[in-house]
Amino acid sequence: QTFEELGLSGELIQSLSESSILKPTEIQRLVIPTLLGKQTDLIGLAQTGTGKTAAFGLPMLDLIDAKQECTQGVILAPTRELAQQIAKSLKAFSSFRKDIIVEVVYGGAPIINQIKAIKKNTPHVLVATPGRLKDLLKRKVVFFDDVRTFVLDEADEMLNMGFKEEIYEILAYADQEKNIWLFSATMASDIRAIVKTFMHKPVEFSV
Ligand code: AMP
Repeated sequence: QTFEELGLSGELIQSLSESSILKPTEIQRLVIPTLLGKQTDLIGLAQTGTGKTAAFGLPMLDLIDAKQECTQGVILAPTRELAQQIAKSLKAFSSFRKDIIVEVVYGGAPIINQIKAIKKNTPHVLVATPGRLKDLLKRKVVFFDDVRTFVLDEADEMLNMGFKEEIYEILAYADQEKNIWLFSATMASDIRAIVKTFMHKPVEFSV
C-alpha cells in the first residue's frame, strides 16, 4: 500500500520522500485511513520506532483548515526532547504546506518567549509538555475552543512522570466535538481510567 492509497493529500506525501519515508508502516496503514475517514477517538498501542508520529501527525495536518487562524490540534508529549522531535517531524511533513503553523512549548525554558511566539503567530498545531500547556492555558495564551483533536503521545510515560493532574485538566476541555487520539506502549489501569473518563467509543489498534 502507498501513502496515496491511504488518502493523504499530495502536498503532504511530497514531503515524505525527503524524510526517507516511502512506504507506510503497519500503524500508519491502520491509523491514517481511519482518522481521515471519520471523526473518532482512537487508541494506538505502539512503541517508539513504529512510525506512530507520522500515523497521527499526517492525518492531523491533513485535517487542518489553515485559513482559520486558531489552534486546531494539540499534541501532548512527556518530555521536552520528544515534544521537539514531534514538532520537527510535523514541520518536515508540512514543508509543502507553508500555510500551516506548528509550534512547540515545554517546561524548563522561559515561558515569555513561548508566549511571544504564540501571540505573534497562532499555531494551527501546538506540541506541548503537559505542565507548560496547563500554565499557558491558565494565562489565557492558548485556547481550546477550536481544537478538534488532542493527541496523547506516550501516555504511559506521561503518567509515569506525574502528569496525571495536568492531563485530566487539559482533557476536561475535550467535549463531544473534540477527538482524543491516545498512543501508549502499554495499557495500564491508569491509562484505562483516562479512556473511560474522557474517550468515546475509541477504535483500537495494536502493532
Ligand atoms: P516514530 O515511531 O514516530 O518515533 O518514528 C521512528 C522513525 O521512523 C523516525 O525516524 C521516522 O522518520 C521513521 N519513519 C516513520 N515512518 C516511516 C516509514 N513509513 N518509512 C520509513 N521510516 C519511517
